[in-house]
Amino acid sequence: MRPRAYVEVNLGAIAANIKQIASKTDAQILAVVKADAYGHGLVPVAHAAVTAGASWLGVALLEEAITLRSKGITAPIIAWLTPPGDDFALALQEQIDLSISSLVLLQEVHSAGIKSGIKPRVHIEVDTGMRRGGFLAEWRELLGALETMKNDLQIVGLWSHFARSDEPESDFSELQLKTFAQYERDLSAIGIVPEITHLSNSAAALRLPTAHRSLVRVGIGMYGLSPDVEHMGTSSELGLQPAMKVFAKLVNVKFAEKGSAVGYGGTAILEDDTHLGIVAMGYADGLPRSATSEAGASTHEMRAPLVGRVSMDQCVIDCGESPTVSAGDYVEVIGGVFSIDDWARASGTINYEIVTRIAPRLPRIYID
Ligand SMILES: *Cc1c(COP(=O)(O)O)cnc(C)c1O
Repeated sequence: MRPRAYVEVNLGAIAANIKQIASKTDAQILAVVKADAYGHGLVPVAHAAVTAGASWLGVALLEEAITLRSKGITAPIIAWLTPPGDDFALALQEQIDLSISSLVLLQEVHSAGIKSGIKPRVHIEVDTGMRRGGFLAEWRELLGALETMKNDLQIVGLWSHFARSDEPESDFSELQLKTFAQYERDLSAIGIVPEITHLSNSAAALRLPTAHRSLVRVGIGMYGLSPDVEHMGTSSELGLQPAMKVFAKLVNVKFAEKGSAVGYGGTAILEDDTHLGIVAMGYADGLPRSATSEAGASTHEMRAPLVGRVSMDQCVIDCGESPTVSAGDYVEVIGGVFSIDDWARASGTINYEIVTRIAPRLPRIYID
């Protein structure tokens, strides 16, 4: 029995997107698979990415990295959001590269290394302007600490993150690159020259070749989505194919009269007699409650905008005067006529949020 709603993930599209991005850089590709691979499924996407040529994987959380190892993935993995108190001994045992972004973290990772007899592989994160992760005020103290600890650590990388790499008119990325170079000089002054340096996300991988360094960390682009539709163009303009589609069943299709108020709050009034399709997917499945009628669902023959508010497990679409669908049919909620970017625009958010919030309760089905 096919489920009432499901996510279809095209692993062939993911492979093609990686190849498309690889054609724009000489740097190695790190496939970012945090947040369940942006909702596409951690393990299948990681396998597909490595097969398609990504030589590294990147996750936020340690548990994501541990899951990858438990599924037999041997590629180098960086986990970059490990708060103090994480199980660093386990991380070392599982050969996971750790990002170091504070002195507290350095101490914990260093002592886990001493205790376990495994030299930690670390990437030092520096704050070059985003004011989120990375060393800033503690930098001088870090240099001092590294002078005494450097032989106990394998300092694999130095890295940072761009705040505005999707904005062509901004020179902020140039400033961040300059600041990064200064951090690099400070490290080399104490005899530390990391093998790899990395700052680029998808936007920088696609439009800032001077920022590529040895490695680019590619997330949204690998999933076939534009990092910024307004400034960088659509997926297809960037040569990318969205990998996610979402389908749901119609629970019912029924006639409703002109003038009817539809859904909670009666926010939509029908302008004509029509047929309403009741779709078995709602905000508990990840459809934004704030979406307007600029989103909806479709089949090959039908473009049916949302009517009224999205409910918890269902939403209502306008199937028109003479509907081509009936109860039990599947409609394409996301990825047909209504793209991920359409859903983002219709709900005042970005494509990243649409895909990552598609609920785990929807099964992921993989095609190639
Ligand atoms: C999420 C993330 C990325 C990927 O960003 P995209 O814009 O999705 O390519 C890269 N680096 C870090 C540190 C991240 O957290």
